[in-house]
Amino acid sequence: MKIYHEDITVNTNQGIHLHDISDQVNVVIKTSGIKNGFVTVNSKHTTTALTINEFESRLMDDARLFFHKLIPESDKYLHNDIHLRDCPQDEPENAHSHLASMLLGNTESIILKEGDLQLGKWQSIILIELDGSRNRTVGVQVMGV
Ligand code: ZN
Repeated sequence: MKIYHEDITVNTNQGIHLHDISDQVNVVIKTSGIKNGFVTVNSKHTTTALTINEFESRLMDDARLFFHKLIPESDKYLHNDIHLRDCPQDEPENAHSHLASMLLGNTESIILKEGDLQLGKWQSIILIELDGSRNRTVGVQVMGV
């Protein structure tokens, strides 16, 4: 069995934004030379998430609105009491972003068969930026033969 790891970077957009990273993950798989096994992707950030779903622009707008409704940025959060925390005073007030990340998760694992990710026709690997814009890093590990 072989293990190949590579980080990919994504320059995200403002606020909550969803980015299709499927093509970047497929490049890593091709580079690895591994044909059968599985691929794990994990975001290295506390205010992002990963999901597998349909990357359709109106659905992405629905997702954005849903996250805003579910965890309103304007609510009161202890994490946003920057003056009470041991951190730089220019820290962003982003508790809502952390909470959404916890709900959504930061890792996905996908079967790799004959060089192809076993995703459905409408499934994409989506990085969800919850506190953009920033430069984000996603680890991609391919394991198999
Ligand atoms: Zn924070």
